Amino acid sequence: MKASDFTYHRPSSAQELAGLLASLENAKVLAGGQSLMPMMNLRLLAPEHLIDINKIPGLAGIRRDGDVIEIGAMTRQVDVLESEIIAKDLPVLKAALEHVGHVQTRSRGTFGGSCCHLDPAAEQPALCRLLDAEFRVNGARGIRVVQAADWFQGMLESALAEDEFLEAIRIKPWTGSYGYGFEEYARRHGDFAIAGAAAMLAVDETQSITRAALMIFGVEASPARLANAEAALVGTKLPDLDVAIVTSAARGLEAMSDVHVSADYRSHLGSVMIKRALLKAKQHLTGSST
Ligand SMILES: Cc1cc2nc3c(=O)[nH]c(=O)nc-3n(C[C@H](O)[C@H](O)[C@H](O)COP(=O)(O)OP(=O)(O)OC[C@H]3O[C@@H](n4cnc5c(N)ncnc54)[C@H](O)[C@@H]3O)c2cc1C
Repeated sequence: MKASDFTYHRPSSAQELAGLLASLENAKVLAGGQSLMPMMNLRLLAPEHLIDINKIPGLAGIRRDGDVIEIGAMTRQVDVLESEIIAKDLPVLKAALEHVGHVQTRSRGTFGGSCCHLDPAAEQPALCRLLDAEFRVNGARGIRVVQAADWFQGMLESALAEDEFLEAIRIKPWTGSYGYGFEEYARRHGDFAIAGAAAMLAVDETQSITRAALMIFGVEASPARLANAEAALVGTKLPDLDVAIVTSAARGLEAMSDVHVSADYRSHLGSVMIKRALLKAKQHLTGSST
């Protein structure tokens, strides 16, 4: 099948883009096209207007802005994966990017596109949830910033209004003594995961956990933070890390079922993934896997 008829627009500035989004009905932004074009070709989506943002200067690139890393929405996934800034300051993001699609899809697919599309099993928005990212959105009504906790509105639904576009994602890296782990299970490398998880733990000089972030994706419609388990870990000594607190919290998520797996299996997988991610984070800190 091929897409329904649409009118193609190619704005050359953010201002022009904002004007088009404000004035056109049933319009879609085209970034890397790796999700949008298949959906249009399958006629799951039939926008009347396609607004290609590939020629707008300033929407791509990774830079440090004080203690924050800013990733432009149009930054290709391959550039995030290969960035020295990301490798140094956000290594857990790099670990996750290694599981995203294939060379071809990463070369076109954008970081921002994945964060707008919001597949439940997508690694990039999930890592934004883990790292408490901020999403800077723009439009004819001006710029606003959305916190990661508010960005996810449900299956394939972000906090973007129809007349807005995502400009950049801002992430404050963790500093000091911390460890991280990323794990996912997909049937073939490059497929969307059935479930995945990431964990981060920071400790002080006495090996007390001072901060914890635990996130599971692919299990519920949006990536989930295990806030109660995070709070329970803070204050405990790293050698006494109680994995059961985390796995039982993971089992409390409302897992989805689909044609591939049952809800119970997905829930079980989520708990196994977060356990492995947590132990990896601990291993980073101690150099030992036990
Ligand atoms: C074979 C294959 C395997 C894949 N495997 C994975 C995988 O393992 N993990 C994974 O996470 N993804 C995977 N993907 C999806 C891929 O990561 C997509 O690139 C991503 O979901 C969307 O990014 P895009 O730049 O291609 O966006 P597009 O497809 O162009 O757009 C996606 C949606 O976001 C909107 N949008 C895009 N950018 C903006 C913006 N700046 N402002 C407002 N709205 C915007 C569009 O209007 C559209 O609704 C795979 C894709 C393919 C084809």
